[in-house]
Amino acid sequence: MAKWVYLFKEGKADMKNLLGGKGANLAEMTNLGLPIPQGFTVTTEACTDYYNSGKKITDEIRGQIFDALKVLEEQQGKKFGDTENPLLVSVRSGARASMPGMMDTILNLGLTDAAVEGFAKKTGNPRFAYDSYRRFIQMFSDVVMEISKAKFERVLDEIKEKKGVHFDTELTADDLKEVITEFKALYKQEKGTDFPQEPTEQLIEAVTAVFRSWDNPRAIYYRRMNDIPGDWGTAVNVQAMVFGNMGDTSGTGVAFTRNPSTGEAKIYGEYLINAQGEDVVAGIRTPLPISKLEEDMPEVYQEFMRIANLLENHYKDMQDMEFTIEDKKLYFLQTRNGKRTAPAALQIACDLVDEGKITKEDAIKRIEAKSLDQLLHPGFDIKALEAAKPVGKALPASPGAAAGKVYFTADDAKNNHEKGERVILVRLETSPEDIEGMHAAEGILTVRGGMTSHAAVVARGMGTACVSGCGEINIDEEAKYFMIAGQTVKEGDYISLDGSTGNIYIGDIPTVEAAISGNFDRIMTWADEIRTLKVRTNADTPADAANAVKFGAEGIGLCRTEHMFFEADRIPKIRKMILSKTVEAREAALNELIPFQKADFKGLYEVMEGRPVTIRFLDPPLHEFVPTEEEDIAALAKDMGLSVEEVKVTCDSLHEFNPMMGHRGCRLAVTYPEIARMQTRAVMEAAIEVKQEKGFDIVPEIMIPLVGEKRELKYVKDIVVETAEKVKAEKGVDIEYHIGTMIEIPRAALLANEIAEEAEFFSFGTNDLTQMTFGFSRDDAGKFLDSYYTTKIYESDPFARLDVDGVGQLVQMAAEKGRATKANLKLGICGEHGGDPSTVDFCHRVGLNYVSCSPFRVPIARLAAAQAVLSNK
Ligand code: ADP
Ligand code: MG
Ligand code: MG
Repeated sequence: MAKWVYLFKEGKADMKNLLGGKGANLAEMTNLGLPIPQGFTVTTEACTDYYNSGKKITDEIRGQIFDALKVLEEQQGKKFGDTENPLLVSVRSGARASMPGMMDTILNLGLTDAAVEGFAKKTGNPRFAYDSYRRFIQMFSDVVMEISKAKFERVLDEIKEKKGVHFDTELTADDLKEVITEFKALYKQEKGTDFPQEPTEQLIEAVTAVFRSWDNPRAIYYRRMNDIPGDWGTAVNVQAMVFGNMGDTSGTGVAFTRNPSTGEAKIYGEYLINAQGEDVVAGIRTPLPISKLEEDMPEVYQEFMRIANLLENHYKDMQDMEFTIEDKKLYFLQTRNGKRTAPAALQIACDLVDEGKITKEDAIKRIEAKSLDQLLHPGFDIKALEAAKPVGKALPASPGAAAGKVYFTADDAKNNHEKGERVILVRLETSPEDIEGMHAAEGILTVRGGMTSHAAVVARGMGTACVSGCGEINIDEEAKYFMIAGQTVKEGDYISLDGSTGNIYIGDIPTVEAAISGNFDRIMTWADEIRTLKVRTNADTPADAANAVKFGAEGIGLCRTEHMFFEADRIPKIRKMILSKTVEAREAALNELIPFQKADFKGLYEVMEGRPVTIRFLDPPLHEFVPTEEEDIAALAKDMGLSVEEVKVTCDSLHEFNPMMGHRGCRLAVTYPEIARMQTRAVMEAAIEVKQEKGFDIVPEIMIPLVGEKRELKYVKDIVVETAEKVKAEKGVDIEYHIGTMIEIPRAALLANEIAEEAEFFSFGTNDLTQMTFGFSRDDAGKFLDSYYTTKIYESDPFARLDVDGVGQLVQMAAEKGRATKANLKLGICGEHGGDPSTVDFCHRVGLNYVSCSPFRVPIARLAAAQAVLSNK
C-alpha cells in the first residue's frame, strides 16, 4: 500500500517533492526539537492522485488521514469534535516551491455547535471560543464552499452597528453567538444545507479544497510566471491549532533572519498582539516591529531569537518564519528560505560567503538569475529628484524607482499597460486577485498594510517598486481618486514612487539606468570564473551596444540591419530601391544607402572594440518599408518621377497573404542580389576603416537569415564572398571575415549537416524557429494562448521560455548534425530566449558556444550560465 500521509516526525527537509516545502520544513523543525504544533502532511502524490481519480480522494487516502488524525488526538490529549476538550486543526496548502498567498488555508477546523461549548469551557474564555468559531465558519464557507467573504463581512458589520461598536474585538461572547447564528443562516441560504457539524466531514472537504486550489486561476498564473510545472501538485498540512488570539499575552507574527529588502544582517519582523493567522499579513491593523517584543515579553523574545539563529545556521540561508505566542508560550509555524529583493539576495550571499557559511558556488546557486533584472531597472535622476518634493512617505516595501499614470483597479492597470502606458497601481490594499495588475504596474502604492503585506511580498518577488501602508492617503477606489497632502490625484494623473525610501511624489520624475558595482560586481566576477558559455548581446545601435558592454556583453550576437533603414533620412532611399524597375536603378538607390550603413557599422565596431559582431542581412518583407500615408506616397512619386497611381499599384503588389512566410530573409537577396552586395560592401569597408583608424582587429561575421536549403545559402554566400574580396582588393587590405547562417526554419535544422558545408557558424533564431515549429505566429498567439494555459495544454509561453521538448530537439539535432560536418562550427542562439535562465541551461547542455540576448538581460545570462555549469556537474 502506498504511503500518502506522513506525520511531521516521519519527514525531513529533503522530502520537499513529496511533502511540499512547508511540510518538509515542519518535519525538519520537529526533528530539531523545536516547538512546533504537531500534525501530519498529505503528500503531493495524493494531490496528483486526486486529479487522476476524477477529483476524488480515494478511500485508501481517507483511511490514512483518519489514522494520522487518531495519532494526533492521542499526542494532543484532545478529541476531534469533543464536547469537553476538542482538537482544532489548521489545514494548510504547501507546494514544492513556495507560492505565497496563492492557495488557501483554513484555521480552527473541528469547531461545531457542540464542540464550541466544550472549547469555551476548557479555555475558560467563551468570547475567544465563539470568535474562533465565527472565523472558522467564514473561512470554511469562503475557501471550501466558495461563498463570498464579503457576505459574511456585511453580516458582521450590521451586528457591529446594531451594538454600537467599532472593532470586532469589542463584540462580547453573546454578540458573537448572534454572529454565529446569522452566519449559519447565511450558509444555509447559500448552500441549502446546514453548516457541517461533523468534523471529519469538515476535514475531508477542506483537504479537497486545498487540492482544488492548486488549479485556481491565480495559482495557474503564478506558476506560469515562475516556471512551476502544473503536475507537481500541492501537499496538505493538517496541524494542531495554537492561538495567538487568546488575549494580551498572545500574538502572532512573521519575521526574517535578515532584512529581505536590503539584506542587512539583522532580525526583521512584525507581530500583532491578540491576533490570529492572516491578521498580520492582511494589513488591517498595523503591526508592531519585532524589537517591541523584546520590551513586552523579554523571555519570549530571547527564545524566539535563539530559534531564529538556529534555523538560519541550520539552513545556511536567510529564513522567513511564522510564529505564534499562545499565552506567553512560543510556537513556530513555518520556516522557509525567505524571498528577498535582488539587492538583498546579493548582500546576503556575499555576507554568508564572508561569514564562512557557504562557498562562492553556493552563493551563485542561491541567486535567482531572473531577479537581477531588478538591479538593472532605473533609479530616479538625481537632479530631478532633488528638485521634486515628496507629498507623502510610507513604508519602503520594495525598492526601485517608478513613475506612471495612476489606476485604481488591477484590470485598469493591466489594460492601460497593454496600451503601452507606464502605470502605477494604487489600492487600499492588494489581494491575490490583483496579481496581473500588479505585474503590469511599474509601481504599487497601498494605503494599508505593513512590510509583510500581500502587496509588499508580491512586489518584492516581482522586482516592482512598492510603497505600502500610506495612512495619509484618503482613497475612493470607486470614484477613482485619492487625496494626499491636500491634493487630489485622479485616474490617469502621473505620480512617482521611490520604493527604496517610501517617498511619494506627484508628477513624472525621469529615471536613469543602473550600473554594476559592489556586491553585484563581486557575484558577476564569480559567475564569470565558473561559466563556459559566452554571453553576447542583441544590439542594433552603438548606444545599446555600449550599454550591453557595461553589463558584460562579450560581443554582438545579432545586429538587425533593417532597423537602420527605418530612420527618417533613410527610408526614402530604401523606398526608392523597392520601387525601382531595373537593376541599375536599384543599385543607384542602394549606393545612396551605403554611407549610412557603413557609418552604422563603424559606430558598432568602435563601441565593441574588437569583440565579435554578427551582422544579419536584411530580413523583413519589403512591404514593411513602403509608405501608407498619402503624403509619403506623393513625395515618393515626385522623387521618382512616377504618378501617384503607379506608386500605389507597386506598393499594393507587395501585399502578401502570409508575410511571415513570404518574400523575406535570404529570399530577398536571391531576388535582389544587389541588396546583399550593398550590405557586404558596407560591412567590409567599415571594418577596414575602423581597423585603420582605431587599430581594432575587426572580424566581421555576416549572417544570412531564413535559410532552408544549402544551395540557397551558397547562392547568397557567393555574392557576399565576391563582393568582400572585391572590397579587400580595392582597399589593398586583407581582413578575416566569416559567413554563417541562422537556423530558424525547421528544414534547416533537419538538413543542418548539409548547410554546415557552406556555413562557418549557426545562430539559432528561436523566435522564428518557435513560430514555424508550432505553426502559430508570435504576434497572434496572444489571442489564444491564455486558453491553452487555463486548460493546461501548454504551461508557459514558448516565445519566452524555449520549448525544450519540441523546438529544443531541433536545436540539439542541428547542433549535432552541424558539428558532424564541421567540428569547429560556432554555435549560438539569438532569439528572445537567450536571456531566459532555463533556456541558458539548455544551451549549456547542448554545447552551444554562446547565447545572445537583449542588453538588460546580459547579467542574467552570465549568472544563469554559471548556474548551468554548477547544476549540470
Ligand atoms: P500561507 O502559505 O498563505 O502563509 P499558511 O498555511 O502558512 O498560509 O497559514 C496562514 C496563516 O495561518 C499563517 O499566519 C499561519 O501562521 C497561520 N496558521 C497556520 N496554521 C496554524 C496553526 N496550526 N495554529 C495557528 N496559526 C496557524
Ligand atoms: Mg495560504
Ligand atoms: Mg505561511
